Amino acid sequence: MLIDSYDRVVDYLRISVTERCNFRCQYCMPEKPFSWVPKENLLSFEELFEFIKVCVDEGVNKIRITGGEPLLREDLDKFIKMIYDYKPSIDLSMTTNAFLLKGAAQRLKDAGLKRINVSIDTLIPSVAQEIAGKDVLKNVLEGVDEALKVGLKVKVNMVPMKTLNANEIVDVLEYCKARGMSIRFIEYMENSHAKEGIAGLKSAELLDILKEKYNFSDDGFDGSSPSHYYTMDDGYRFGIIEPYEDDFCKKCNRIRLTAEGHLIPCLYFDEAMSIAESIKRGDIKGAAFVLKEVVRTKPEKNRWGGEDDEVSSRAFYETGG
Ligand code: SAM
Ligand code: SF4
Repeated sequence: MLIDSYDRVVDYLRISVTERCNFRCQYCMPEKPFSWVPKENLLSFEELFEFIKVCVDEGVNKIRITGGEPLLREDLDKFIKMIYDYKPSIDLSMTTNAFLLKGAAQRLKDAGLKRINVSIDTLIPSVAQEIAGKDVLKNVLEGVDEALKVGLKVKVNMVPMKTLNANEIVDVLEYCKARGMSIRFIEYMENSHAKEGIAGLKSAELLDILKEKYNFSDDGFDGSSPSHYYTMDDGYRFGIIEPYEDDFCKKCNRIRLTAEGHLIPCLYFDEAMSIAESIKRGDIKGAAFVLKEVVRTKPEKNRWGGEDDEVSSRAFYETGG
């Protein structure tokens, strides 16, 4: 079992299989073009799988594939099948922008994927274009329909922002509710890669908007999920992710691996250790050592909501959020 210095059990690995993305979401990626990590620096799926086996053998039981946009990486279904075949009971999920999901959903389901999270910040095509930098909404919604059709469980992530989509919070919630999908509102996390001037809604502001339309009770937290849950009178449950809250990291159970092999103990900080060299030379003991060091050095808390003006320089598209 992997236990960090604050007695938190680490049993959740998030793997960003590529930092590349077909969207340029304002809150995630720089506006100006930049160069990607060269493809030859990425770990192959076979190499990533060697490290996954180490993690699973040490007690990891939950794996999420993310990115960048994970569906841009070829043969993703084969990678998912490798993980599924190693331990079918693993809670295996993926976060995607869903642009390419329509053509991939059935293959992913057949490979062993259980759940997906889809990012939907708006239901208005022009707003989606403004947020993502291109006309994406039709493909995204078709992708969601297909995922539901093939039997994948779907959760929606929405990042509410003041001038962009705050007026759509109820509409997006109703869209999810009508399709039996749960929704998690994610507070915008400031970072140095996002467009300047984005103002995210904090959970109190979001709750004020929802209170105008619904009655709901505060359920608090559930297991190691980072969501604060609320249940509406009709039983529908929604969550809010509040990284600015002081106790947000208390039950954190996750570490993150980038496509280049950087193992990251916390989404906020730049610190990481590489597993690439050990894995490339077949040194499984070396990779297990890095894993344990990263767990040991996992910081107690992020610094969102801290008192200084420091802004995280970790890129969400690199770590996978
Ligand atoms: N491309 C996929 C997608 O968008 O779903 C997966 C990667 S994306 C980095 C994972 C999640 O991070 C998305 O739900 C996205 O909304 C969220 N995210 C990205 N930047 C964020 C930020 N600055 N604050 C809060 N959430 C953010
Ligand atoms: Fe791409 Fe996801 Fe970042 Fe949007 S949030 S730019 S879809 S990685």
